[in-house]
Amino acid sequence: MSTIRPCVGISACLLGEPVRYDGRDKRHTFLVETLGPHVEWCPICPEAGAGMGIPREPVFLRQGMQQNEMIGWESHRDYTPAMMEWIEQQLERWRALSLDGVILKSKSPSCGLAGVDVFDTEGEVVEAGRGLFAEALCAVESVPFVRSEKGLDDVEEQEHFLTQIFTHARWKAWQEEGQTAAQLQAFHASHKMLFLSYDQSCYRKMGPLVAQWKQRGMEQTCHAYAKLMSQALMTPPQKGDHVNTVMHLFGMMKRAVPAPVRKRLEQQLRDYTDGTLALYVLREALKEVIEGHDVMPWLKQQVYLSPHPVALSWS
Ligand code: SF4
Repeated sequence: MSTIRPCVGISACLLGEPVRYDGRDKRHTFLVETLGPHVEWCPICPEAGAGMGIPREPVFLRQGMQQNEMIGWESHRDYTPAMMEWIEQQLERWRALSLDGVILKSKSPSCGLAGVDVFDTEGEVVEAGRGLFAEALCAVESVPFVRSEKGLDDVEEQEHFLTQIFTHARWKAWQEEGQTAAQLQAFHASHKMLFLSYDQSCYRKMGPLVAQWKQRGMEQTCHAYAKLMSQALMTPPQKGDHVNTVMHLFGMMKRAVPAPVRKRLEQQLRDYTDGTLALYVLREALKEVIEGHDVMPWLKQQVYLSPHPVALSWS
């Protein structure tokens, strides 16, 4: 897993590139220093890219007949046609890049995912909208897992996003290696507990889909599998989902693990349930026990034990 590097689109200012209207940046420490070493960034600045210059006059969104318009605060120039033309070209490029996720700068009239002020012609705020680039990007089906940097302030959201992008990247890598039944079975086997933790309904459909791949053929099976995987990864698991998954793991390892070790793990699971132990500590403990005992090899391969390589600062 350590060689997997998800390809992530990002607003360039978040990486420290001085592309904002005032010639400055919005460097985001977590993204640059913690996540950066583990991913391939695909930086983009819609306003600089659309030829608005650096520095440039700041812009705002104005309610229009067909769509919101991008207007200069000082000149009142309408930048919408230039921006939309550039967006059209860039989306083609981003489709070809096959991204695993995207992180956009919040509140920007170009990149903001939500809550961007939209004004009427009188200068009154009439709605909270989306930046023009963010709006267009979210309509592209092949671009998965779009977040704002604000949405990643919370460590549980970070965990969820990282699991999404690394799982997507592993799936992509598997597809590039050639789609054989044996490889699909191996991919599914190693991700079973992860998908169980995310969505039991999808999890129950995935196993039979893989087992009966001959009925649909490999291509259609992979297509259906990828759809279920995306659906499963949409909503983060709740505490009860993790408890259920860990109980499954306990059930499968109990014969190989001595009673005192099991008891210690059970206490750690209770501590996690009570909120006194972080999920990653529980996972680390599980991983250590699984790796140190003669359990089924299948258990040692579970991605659930280590869904991504990034060390998050859990408190
Ligand atoms: S928010 Fe988007 S448009 Fe604004 S400077 Fe950052 S990358 Fe460029």
